[in-house]
Amino acid sequence: MSTTDFYQSIPRKFRPKRFSQVVGQETTITTLKNALKENILAHAYLFAGSRGSGKTTIARILAKALCCSKPEGIEPCCTCTSCKEIEQSRSLDVIEIDGASNRGIDDTRRLTEAALYTPANGKCKIYLIDEVHMLTKEAFNALLKTLEEPPPKVKFFLATTEPHKILPTIISRCQRFDLTKIASSLITDKLATIAQILDRNVAKDALSIIASKSDGSLRDAESLLDQLLAFKGGDIDKTCAIQALGLPQESDFLAIDAAFTKEDFSFPFSFVEMLFSRGQDLSYFLEELLLHFRAHFLRVLSQENTPYTKETLLWIFDLITEEVAHFSQKPSQKLALEMLLLRILRAKKRVSLETLWQRLEEISQLPDAASAIHTPSQSPCKPDEKQKDPIAETVEPAIVPVPFSFTKKAPVESASEKTPQLEPQENLQNTSIKKPNPRPPTLQKQVAQDTLLRFASVLFEGRIQKG
Ligand SMILES: [Zn+2]
Repeated sequence: MSTTDFYQSIPRKFRPKRFSQVVGQETTITTLKNALKENILAHAYLFAGSRGSGKTTIARILAKALCCSKPEGIEPCCTCTSCKEIEQSRSLDVIEIDGASNRGIDDTRRLTEAALYTPANGKCKIYLIDEVHMLTKEAFNALLKTLEEPPPKVKFFLATTEPHKILPTIISRCQRFDLTKIASSLITDKLATIAQILDRNVAKDALSIIASKSDGSLRDAESLLDQLLAFKGGDIDKTCAIQALGLPQESDFLAIDAAFTKEDFSFPFSFVEMLFSRGQDLSYFLEELLLHFRAHFLRVLSQENTPYTKETLLWIFDLITEEVAHFSQKPSQKLALEMLLLRILRAKKRVSLETLWQRLEEISQLPDAASAIHTPSQSPCKPDEKQKDPIAETVEPAIVPVPFSFTKKAPVESASEKTPQLEPQENLQNTSIKKPNPRPPTLQKQVAQDTLLRFASVLFEGRIQKG
């Protein structure tokens, strides 16, 4: 078997070789092309950006353009020895260093000493340090002087996914480019071109799925396309893509909706087990879950039928976004997802803040507040239909009042509009004066209000604001 028979992966095979082939990053490319044209290049560049945004690809093209023996305008020829050696990472003049494995002060010292030797091709010597944020503080300091005043013909290209971890003194000595995530539409177009070149028929919605899963990384998208093309010969459609990439299916989300409606608390355990055994990427599932509830929210806004109320969905958004932020650090993602789904199912029984405000309004209108709490059927404002009233179940009027300043106005229509059957406040007070009560009505009202607020503070996990 000759070496040409080896399969070359799509990311390698279709890696941009010239500026004109780079997808996205227009600002960076335009600036670099102008600098090349005007011959006003800096001696140090910092390329910052997420995985697969093209940092090292752009740095290599720039290196090729600087070292090329027969450049075509500002583009490298890609055929001369220098261009080929750089592409194959075996150039003596373009030294690629992985910052993660050469992070010590000795590594940096060796580098700065070697930088004193003249370039082999006589044109330019370039140090491309990838993941430069991994260098130790001492290594950065050793690099600092060389970076500020590099030997003639020496340039530094630094690449990082985490620019905030680089010393400000280093950053200030570099011209910085912040590469953006690549737009889904650009990724889809590039994948379509690749499929066409490879003479494979892949449906556009299948490519869109890949683009959205790759989160702005073209390299990830190309690897996924590789995976998809290997999965099955012949034409590839959306269903095939979902299956090949192990993506969550629509039926998964319908099952969650059904469990919510039935309040099936055993569901999360069997469901997450099923996802787990299927090899589902759970953090990706979480993102899809958020999109699922987002779709329900839009349905609520356009008054279409959905098992969720607006308040419930807002609460679910809070739960999921909180989980997404810390999901990768969870010791057991399986357990975390089970608990999240359980909380989502429990959200059905949750009382909205609006309902609590309404109840407070009612209490403030009544002379004997405690009795009002215990007769929710008389209440003009009911929580979600068919639900038991958790306030009525929970509130114990005998609880000692807690000090709580409460001045915020309820964001609902005034209670007097909603409770026409109530007599004016003055009359009610007169009535209660005629009928002696062991506890003054104002105190009773205070007890009821405080109790309700204590209930609310537990329910809202301390997130309620003091007035
Ligand atoms: Zn060349």
